[in-house]
Amino acid sequence: ATPTAVMVATGVGASNGVLIKGGDALERAQSVKYVIFDKTGTLTQGKATVATAKVFTEMERGEFLTLVASAEASSEHPLAKAIVEYARHFHFFDEPSIPGLPQNSLSGWLLDSSNFSAVPGKGVQCSIGGKRILVGNRKLMLESGISIPTHVENFVVELEESAKTGVLVAHDDVLIGVLGIADPLKREASVVIEGLVKMGIKPIMVTGDNWRTAKAVAREVGIQDVRAEILPAGKAEAIRMFQKDGSVVAMVGDGINDSPALAAADVGMAIGAGTDIAIEAADYVLMRNNLEDVITAIDLSRKTFTRIR
Ligand code: ADP
Ligand code: MG
Repeated sequence: ATPTAVMVATGVGASNGVLIKGGDALERAQSVKYVIFDKTGTLTQGKATVATAKVFTEMERGEFLTLVASAEASSEHPLAKAIVEYARHFHFFDEPSIPGLPQNSLSGWLLDSSNFSAVPGKGVQCSIGGKRILVGNRKLMLESGISIPTHVENFVVELEESAKTGVLVAHDDVLIGVLGIADPLKREASVVIEGLVKMGIKPIMVTGDNWRTAKAVAREVGIQDVRAEILPAGKAEAIRMFQKDGSVVAMVGDGINDSPALAAADVGMAIGAGTDIAIEAADYVLMRNNLEDVITAIDLSRKTFTRIR
């Protein structure tokens, strides 16, 4: 292709909300063999909402939600935002207080927490009222020495089989409750997956979420090949594995977690609504947040660089 053709293609991309950072990326996209999709916020809308909240102890529901939200208040994770939002709605008509515990001065109903830390790919921990709170997945509970009773495990499995993410909550080292979080697929997701397969491209899903939820979502969207429970560093590793035989690999993602993988991929595509770090690491930015533009981008490259067949 001539420099003019590349310029024209870049312009056509831009007018469709597909920003292309350079001619090399445009050229590589024509030979993509695998497209690796992040799950949360990429295949799904990233609008996680709490579908269920179950308390396994005597603790009152409102108190449970306040504790969990207070622990998650310092986290940027979409699951954390969903939990805080849900608890905020629950408390909308309430007098916000749990007797004896200091209220957070900024947002009335939340409790002050200390020693907050985010555990990437696992959850968060902090202390509230002198007691340790853990909010996250099984791995977080196991590595913190919290045992998961069978009835709790069964409840989590049930959530996961219906494509929800189970978030476990431990208070003072006892598992007190579980939240089930749902995040609907993007409307175009399954059509795009089908389209890629027709183009001879293999779609794959990578996620930090657990295997059961991941498989349920993959089944819904029509992806056969899933890699789940991948810690943040593992996504880039997965890309390199697919590149081993010289295949051209594209990665589509939105999160901070996805940026090493976006950089490692031959063609990194960031969702425009994603985090700045992901957008910086990518070769393409899909401004319309629509997965159809993955196909638009590959098509554009094929049309620019392939002779008329
Ligand atoms: P993804 O690839 O789905 O974006 P992440 O690496 O961000 O995955 O998170 C993986 C898993 O870690 C989540 O599915 C969840 O179980 C747990 N997790 C991470 N952060 C949090 C949090 N702030 N609150 C609860 N759970 C969390
Ligand atoms: Mg994501």
